[in-house]
Amino acid sequence: MRTNSKNSELLERARKVIPGGMYGHESVALLPSEFPQFFSRADGARLWDADGNAYVDYMCAFGPNLLGYNHPTVEAAARAQAELGDTMTGPSEFMVRLAEDFVGMIDHADWAMFCKNGSDATSMAMVLSRAHTGRRKILVARGAYHGASPWNTPSPKGILPEDRAHIIYFAYNDLDSLRDAVKSADGDVAAVFATPFRHEVFQDQTTPFDVYAKGVRQICDEAGALLIIDEIRTGFRLSRDCSWARFGVKPDLSTWGKVLANGYPLSALLGAEKIRAAAQTIFVTGSFWFSAVPMAAGVETLRLIRETDYLERMIAIADRLRAGIAEQASSHGIGIRQTGPAQMPQILFENDPDMRYGYFWTAAAVRRGVYLHPYHNMFVTSALTEADIEKTFEVTNAAFEELKRSYSSIEPQSNPFVAARLGAIAAA
Ligand code: PMP
Repeated sequence: MRTNSKNSELLERARKVIPGGMYGHESVALLPSEFPQFFSRADGARLWDADGNAYVDYMCAFGPNLLGYNHPTVEAAARAQAELGDTMTGPSEFMVRLAEDFVGMIDHADWAMFCKNGSDATSMAMVLSRAHTGRRKILVARGAYHGASPWNTPSPKGILPEDRAHIIYFAYNDLDSLRDAVKSADGDVAAVFATPFRHEVFQDQTTPFDVYAKGVRQICDEAGALLIIDEIRTGFRLSRDCSWARFGVKPDLSTWGKVLANGYPLSALLGAEKIRAAAQTIFVTGSFWFSAVPMAAGVETLRLIRETDYLERMIAIADRLRAGIAEQASSHGIGIRQTGPAQMPQILFENDPDMRYGYFWTAAAVRRGVYLHPYHNMFVTSALTEADIEKTFEVTNAAFEELKRSYSSIEPQSNPFVAARLGAIAAA
């Protein structure tokens, strides 16, 4: 019998000492009550909540779990360095090895700088593009997520218009809109941020057109602006190189995070030779940016990315998952849309403007031990086994059956934040 008493108790205690009990992207405040907030352990593609309930996990810690939680050789590399020292007065030799290995893997890159979170890397890219060009304006696709710093957080609370005075927004996959944005900047564009594909919450995902990717590069060149590709969510899940390499597009800078050390805190900014000089002039740092353990884990993670077929296996299993779920939905006569790459799926329901069916279906799956998400893109790990897939299909089928049985009586999900978010999307 599934219990959640420990989770409830922790939430109650947390509300007294942590604002809201939890904050940020891992808060379950916008999710049905079935979703646990606290976890106790993880292994491979599985996750155990604070009450000991097990899940096949399709969130992968919102990305970092690429090769499987508790990966034996990554953990061994981290443990070996932990015995020697982690946060010291300077970095270990792993920093140099990591930079050599990473630069050797990514075609556009000649140098690397390391930090902790994705937001560190995107903010560093923004500052560096201004230092290199001597210009002010940063162009960002409307609604695209690049972090939680004042210049890019999705919430306006506590943020001043001045924080974004030099950010100009354009529409994703729309070259005319980008051209208009460049024109409005009147020769003052430092950089254009590009997302490998459009992956926004509560919406279908969109793959860029080939002409769009090439066009963005060309517009940047004509404007003398840098092209920054944000691979923080997509890195090494789509490709072993920058993901726009498939369009023949090379950015000037790229930002990476999440998977780099398979769960250890590490992010990076990679750059082309021409920006190296400016990169030596900016002051960017942090107390934990140079810690040795994540870098040792990163070196081993990059080795596994280069030397194993993790990517091909992950894509094959993700394709099977997508096909199986499509078949189940159709056999139940339920319309769903699965968008984005199969290894980063977003599953939304037809005729579901307030998301009540998506919320119901994912909650029914969580109750049965498969952790799916109703509004954020999910992540597939290469550690997913046959047994995990079997369990998933059993559960998703039962969840579709329950949805079908209850279809006409499902209450609108009434979370005011979700309603406001959906209203804003509908109005845009
Ligand atoms: N850019 C993208 C594309 C992201 O998906 C994220 C995190 N979801 C970030 C930047 C920010 O990364 P972090 O949360 O590690 O600061």
